[in-house]
Amino acid sequence: MSESTPAPLLELDDVHQVFATKRGDVPAISGVNLTVNPGKVLCLVGESGCGKTTTARAAAGLTSVTGGTIRFEGADIDTLSDLGRQKFREAVQYIHQDPYASLNPVRTIASTVSAGLLRHKLVANRREARKAAAELLERVDLTPAESYLDKYPHQLSGGQRQRVAIARALAMKPRLLIADESTSMLDVSIRVSLLNTLGRLRDDTGVGFMFITHDLAVAKYFAWDGEIAVMYLGKVVEQGPTPQVINDPRHPYTKALISAVCEPDPELARSKKVMPLRSSEIPSLTALPAGCTFHPRCPVYEADTCDGTPPALIPLDGRRRLACHVLNPDVAPAPAPTAA
Ligand code: SF4
Repeated sequence: MSESTPAPLLELDDVHQVFATKRGDVPAISGVNLTVNPGKVLCLVGESGCGKTTTARAAAGLTSVTGGTIRFEGADIDTLSDLGRQKFREAVQYIHQDPYASLNPVRTIASTVSAGLLRHKLVANRREARKAAAELLERVDLTPAESYLDKYPHQLSGGQRQRVAIARALAMKPRLLIADESTSMLDVSIRVSLLNTLGRLRDDTGVGFMFITHDLAVAKYFAWDGEIAVMYLGKVVEQGPTPQVINDPRHPYTKALISAVCEPDPELARSKKVMPLRSSEIPSLTALPAGCTFHPRCPVYEADTCDGTPPALIPLDGRRRLACHVLNPDVAPAPAPTAA
């Protein structure tokens, strides 16, 4: 592998996750291929129920997938030894959406942040653990750290609790952070401040991010140097460098998502083109439409083309990939002429 292309941190290869329910099988994700590189951000965006969290949980090894392979630093996470799994659990940390539910209410902040250090014997004693907890709190801008160490979660604001959750994740010196709607429950000003902290940690530590959000404005802010993968009903429909996807979206669903982002500048809001959909109804995962699953809503739907076979996610231009029969037809190369 060349110096300019570091070995991938995380690779999802044709991953499927089907949940058996009373209403039938639910294909939460189908054929997802994604890569996160060291120090880079891959942002998953899409509406609720599109499969973002299922993908994130599978990537973190929190659920076993029903198909495909997930590799972390080249190793299939399904076949790790006990020691390998422990190392994987340290290297990949998950930051949940709800800072109110993710912290134990009867533990002090010092105990919460240092629990993993003690459990994995990364510090010699409680005094060292407290010192390490204070340093971690400083890194996530909870200063002075001494004023937080002996507090309980209910004594902190939502933004402060989420910083504690991040400090707890950083304690394990992770190489991959999976942040699942980690800023969505916070006020806008606190959200921006937390995104700035996460961005600084990414730059300082080289940690890779799988960043899940339903908010394209957040994706644009946090993942501008990274990539966006747009998910719809369990599949990636468009993926590419963030500036390309945001400034020049190609998939009709991506266009609809971007046209729905609130624009603070009234001038820009007036000039913005709205992408009208044929329907606002999202089909059920238990009764997916044939062919392209976006076709009942797609404004550029073509009968007989879009409702036949599902479109493949194939290269469009540069690093961008697009799944659309009409805008990125999968044209097989013509067979070479045979000699007469
Ligand atoms: Fe729309 Fe057809 Fe493209 Fe699907 S394949 S996004 S229905 S144009």
